[in-house]
Amino acid sequence: MPLHLDKIPTLRELYTRGVLKPAKVAPRHAPRAALLDRVSLFQGDITTLDIDCIVNAANRSLLGGGGVDGAIHAAAGPSLLEECRKLNGCETGDAKITGGHDLPARHIIHTVGPIYSSYKKEEKAEQLASCYKTSLQLVVASSLKHVAFPSVSTGIYGYPIKDATHIALNVARGYLDTPEGDKLDRTIFVVWSDADKLVYESLLPHYFPSEDEGDTV
Ligand code: ADP
Repeated sequence: MPLHLDKIPTLRELYTRGVLKPAKVAPRHAPRAALLDRVSLFQGDITTLDIDCIVNAANRSLLGGGGVDGAIHAAAGPSLLEECRKLNGCETGDAKITGGHDLPARHIIHTVGPIYSSYKKEEKAEQLASCYKTSLQLVVASSLKHVAFPSVSTGIYGYPIKDATHIALNVARGYLDTPEGDKLDRTIFVVWSDADKLVYESLLPHYFPSEDEGDTV
């Protein structure tokens, strides 16, 4: 069943319901009321979202794989693979766009996250940040208004969920604070597992504080 944008809860709704609670320590960013209506957290299958664009955690070949990549290719149908074959792969940290094919989403942005290694933490963090930033830039450059991200690199590629979530939220908040970011109506973070949902619920208030939070660090 395709899920329309108005069924995906915004951060404002999640604060109102008490799902999100104000951070216990001063948040990293100043509250910006407008962003609470333009950011969402959703637990479930990203392939069901009826929005402008979903992001795929792809591999460098762009020819399909396991995890969310496999789910997206299975739901989008074989014509997605045909389109991906023409893209000549994608570098780690970069992103390329295709049509949505049989998905309810109109477009797919395929980004290639890093395979985690604790020996190269900084390089991996830069690559993961680049996945989010490049994807957001591509959404806006393609005149699309909404985007949903899975938790890139945190499955088969082994990136620790907490570190990866800090990176995802930091890049998104930074981008949404720019004039380009103003063009985005909705940025949705999609989680699959309960454990990942808890991590997003605990970190979102640091990057997207509710209106009644005052001081920032
Ligand atoms: P990577 O190879 O980048 O680590 P994975 O697909 O293995 O990518 O995992 C990325 C994240 O996507 C994980 O948190 C995984 O639980 C999640 N995931 C898997 N299937 C789906 C789906 N259908 N919708 C949303 N998220 C999914």
